[in-house]
Amino acid sequence: MKIQAIRGFKDWLPEDFVKYEYLIELAKGILKTYNYKEIKIPILEKTELFVRSIGEFTDIVQKETYTFQDRNKDFLTLRPEATAGICRMIIEKGLFVNPKPLKFFTVGPMFRHERPQKGRLREFFQIDVELFTELNPFLEAEIIFLALEILKAPLSFKNSNSEIYTLELNSLGCPKCRPKYKEELLKFLEKNKENLCETCKSRLKRNPLRILDCKIETCKKIVAKSPIITEYLCEDCKNHFKNLKEIFDFMKIKYIENPRLVRGLDYYVRTIFEIKAKGLGAQDTVAAGGRYDYLLEELGGQHLPAIGFAIGLERWAISIFGDEENKGILDLDNILDRLNPDIFIVLLGKKFLIKGFQLAAHLRKEDLRCEVTYEEKSLKSQLKNADKLSAKYSLILGEEEWEKGSVILKNMRKGVQENIDFKNLEDLAKKISKKVKNET
Ligand code: ATP
Ligand code: MG
Repeated sequence: MKIQAIRGFKDWLPEDFVKYEYLIELAKGILKTYNYKEIKIPILEKTELFVRSIGEFTDIVQKETYTFQDRNKDFLTLRPEATAGICRMIIEKGLFVNPKPLKFFTVGPMFRHERPQKGRLREFFQIDVELFTELNPFLEAEIIFLALEILKAPLSFKNSNSEIYTLELNSLGCPKCRPKYKEELLKFLEKNKENLCETCKSRLKRNPLRILDCKIETCKKIVAKSPIITEYLCEDCKNHFKNLKEIFDFMKIKYIENPRLVRGLDYYVRTIFEIKAKGLGAQDTVAAGGRYDYLLEELGGQHLPAIGFAIGLERWAISIFGDEENKGILDLDNILDRLNPDIFIVLLGKKFLIKGFQLAAHLRKEDLRCEVTYEEKSLKSQLKNADKLSAKYSLILGEEEWEKGSVILKNMRKGVQENIDFKNLEDLAKKISKKVKNET
């Protein structure tokens, strides 16, 4: 029997890789301008880290983690998200003494045992961004703005389409004001208990806020009439949220206040947000995040408020490039063209095999993608091969031109060719590189 990949785990073929790499590079470029520093945290952590941070009674910890005992019988979990690991790292490395704000990002795979469907995988990638500093509405506005900037970056030259993303905001209150709301919500939900789905019935005791996020129609109907947190916020939370919204209003950053927005992790307090995209179907949240002001101290560190977000790379890619069902906004072909050889070297005769080898080395030093097949075939058959590989240029090394100190450079897309004179191979590579880079 053939061995297949695990359900919900995806291979990345070269064409996937270019697409994702393109997005990751754009994101990294923007993160740099905001002075975020890249880090790497382990994929595997002690199970306890996630139980204590995300929360024992959350769906993620109860149903979605890949948890197992290793050969030493230690309980380990494949990370379902990155925030907990970053907090663990900060505490362990004592990074509190560093100048504030602390600004980190990391890119990598996360693992959740969910039901695979469009936009929902079991191994998926996140671009995770975290900011640790005192409560400051400007820094908070800045990091949410950053999330929007990253998502829209591939569309910067397509202004009309930059509206595909909508920002939703809510405040979840703090340990001072949330319990009262939770109590009122619970009272309301208990009254409507019979009509809740089975999962939500079990959430009642353990995680009632999560019911607000249920995607089942009957639950949605009940939730639509539930009390909203906004009416229970304490003065501090109210003011904090108001300050943030004022900055957005002033900056003309559009947002929707969604008083029933919640997140599936326990550590969030005060501001939370989601960015949704058109054309993604049911799983339309591309990025999500919020404040987790008490997490560091709960994990044994000092008090240091924080806010962060994660972009789901695969969902972001669908919102930009489309998928089997939807045409994307950006043409993927342009980006896939990066995978095609810049130069295909055609060698006409045995004597040129070694010359081709040398020339390719020089061209590669010029950062050109080169292909040489070292076949003694006719010009026609080699050009056909260049075409099949979608090479942008063919470089023909043949007896007649070589004698006169030149080679033929053929632009395969335009079907035109010219002779290039040269002194030595290095000089030739430089000339070709200049030409190719100017034309493409
Ligand atoms: P959702 O309920 O929309 O799946 P979530 O609240 O579980 O999201 P977060 O933990 O906030 O998601 O993760 C941030 C982002 O990571 C999501 O907005 C989404 O883009 C992506 N993401 C989360 N789970 C998955 C998954 N199983 N497959 C693919 N992407 C995911
Ligand atoms: Mg989820």
